[in-house]
Amino acid sequence: MLNVENIRKDFPILSRKVNGKPLVYFDNAATSQTPQQVINAIVNYYSNYNANIHRGVHTLSQEATDLYEESRKKIQAHFNAKFSHEIIFTSGTTHSINLVANGFSSSLKKGDNIIVSALEHHSNIVPWQMLCERTGATLNVIPMNNEGELVMTAYDKLLSKNTKLVFCNHISNALGTINPIETIIEKAHAVGAAVLIDGAQACPHLKPDVQALNVDFYVTSAHKMCGPTGVGMLYGKEAWLKKLPPYQGGGEMIAEVTFEKTTYADLPHKFEAGTPNIAGGIVFGTAIDYMNSIGFEAIANYENDLLQYATKKLLDIEGLKIYGTSKQKTSVLSFNLEGIHPYDVGSILDKLGIAVRTGHHCAQPIMDFYKIPGTVRASFAFYNTKAEIDILAEGIKKAKMMLS
Ligand SMILES: *Cc1c(COP(=O)(O)O)cnc(C)c1O
Repeated sequence: MLNVENIRKDFPILSRKVNGKPLVYFDNAATSQTPQQVINAIVNYYSNYNANIHRGVHTLSQEATDLYEESRKKIQAHFNAKFSHEIIFTSGTTHSINLVANGFSSSLKKGDNIIVSALEHHSNIVPWQMLCERTGATLNVIPMNNEGELVMTAYDKLLSKNTKLVFCNHISNALGTINPIETIIEKAHAVGAAVLIDGAQACPHLKPDVQALNVDFYVTSAHKMCGPTGVGMLYGKEAWLKKLPPYQGGGEMIAEVTFEKTTYADLPHKFEAGTPNIAGGIVFGTAIDYMNSIGFEAIANYENDLLQYATKKLLDIEGLKIYGTSKQKTSVLSFNLEGIHPYDVGSILDKLGIAVRTGHHCAQPIMDFYKIPGTVRASFAFYNTKAEIDILAEGIKKAKMMLS
């Protein structure tokens, strides 16, 4: 069981007021809040260890390097990667995806195809479109149904020996659907295609095992799982990471440089050009420790309870429609009030201290599917409460009264 009152004390921001009202933070799918433990770790780094890594012989540099590499090992253990050099630090999910997309530039050709899902975040659509433009490969889309689930029979038809890559998110940020990635990976491998899973929305809710999934690439951002912004990771199977060319050139990623030829450093440094977000990388490990100290099973149970409670409560409001009704979903509620623009609802909720997201949630194709301009999205984390959901429900009723 999860002691939410104690947990809330870890998050200083949760006791602030917005527009004179206690903050109700329901925009967790955009970024999670930061516990004191993580804030302390950032302060500790800059107060005691700040130095550039992997270069200096001096003590500070060695200590900072050790902390950075320890964090990499923590991330490796958390995701159950076989080797720590399969974990590449990046600036986040978007960077990780671009790194992989860029790596396939020279191996794809006309006639090849790439499959993405209809539920993707723009960061998992645009880099592949750019890759197709560069290589002449074609982009195919696994369609979705009304519940917000992928149509797997259509996926079967898209797969062929020309399929080189498949990209899908683990959990949809706009609707909360948990996608059947085990099946997606297995079927892609059966035709010889590689798979990248975007885990940005999954990692706050569950603990993926990259070896059990047998996934080729798995990417995420620290800021969605209680860590800081500007840092994330790319997991890649060793064989793939050895095969892919480096993404950026610079310091840190080379073995030897002359004007005739440069040889690249071993993994993981080959993909880590330049001075990284050192504090961020170290503290990513602290965030993972924090979440594990609460426990992912407890988090999942508690959040599911919140989701059921909120779904029932919101559906009691006349004229409210929820988008994304899969049985397999996490604590995201995307909804609209009949005849009212989501932006107007969001603005009134903000006046009441309630932070929700409005708009297309970087997933415009999903909004096109439902023929709507966007939704209001309330996304819950393990530090939210049923009392806050009651405040949301009252706020929505108030917005409805004011706007209709
Ligand atoms: C947030 C999110 C991203 C983008 O993450 P960044 O940290 O902005 O790079 C990509 N995919 C999904 C599913 C997300 O939720």
